[in-house]
Amino acid sequence: MERSLIIFKPDSLNRALVGEILHRFERKGLKIIGMKMTYLDDDLLGQHYFHLKDKPFFPRLKRFMQSAPSIVAVLEGNNVIEVVRNLVGVTRGYEALSGTVRGDYSLSGQCNVIHASDSPVNAELEISRFFNHDELFNYEKIDLEYIYAEDEL
Ligand code: UDP
Ligand code: MG
Repeated sequence: MERSLIIFKPDSLNRALVGEILHRFERKGLKIIGMKMTYLDDDLLGQHYFHLKDKPFFPRLKRFMQSAPSIVAVLEGNNVIEVVRNLVGVTRGYEALSGTVRGDYSLSGQCNVIHASDSPVNAELEISRFFNHDELFNYEKIDLEYIYAEDEL
């Protein structure tokens, strides 16, 4: 089953949006298989945003990403990488469509509340960057049909 790494950026913690955003992923049917709070130090940030390290806005981005801890999570589900990117919306909050996380909660090109993996290769790289094997959980969701069957006895 495909997996994606998401990061609740410092602005989503400061603005108390974590639960609301996570709720959207849960309602979609995606499964949380790992989650923790962490601080993105220079080394982690340099790796995670390696593709942006020479951009003029990188120092500012770094200050933002280190202004508070982040919450990192791994979601699992059918086509999860594309599904989550669609739920999240395009990078700049002021361009993202209403109904998407960034479209609904961000007006910024930088403080856009959440990160989501953009490809299977990057997802696996990002997951292994933030999680050890024993921090990811393989479990079955409760089968609701089974519960209903019990009720009918
Ligand atoms: N970013 C920024 N200014 C820019 C482009 C990106 O501050 O002009 C930040 C923004 O927080 C974005 C992150 O860098 O989410 C990573 O950029 P990327 O192009 O990978 O966008 P994403 O995959 O997050 O949509
Ligand atoms: Mg990206």
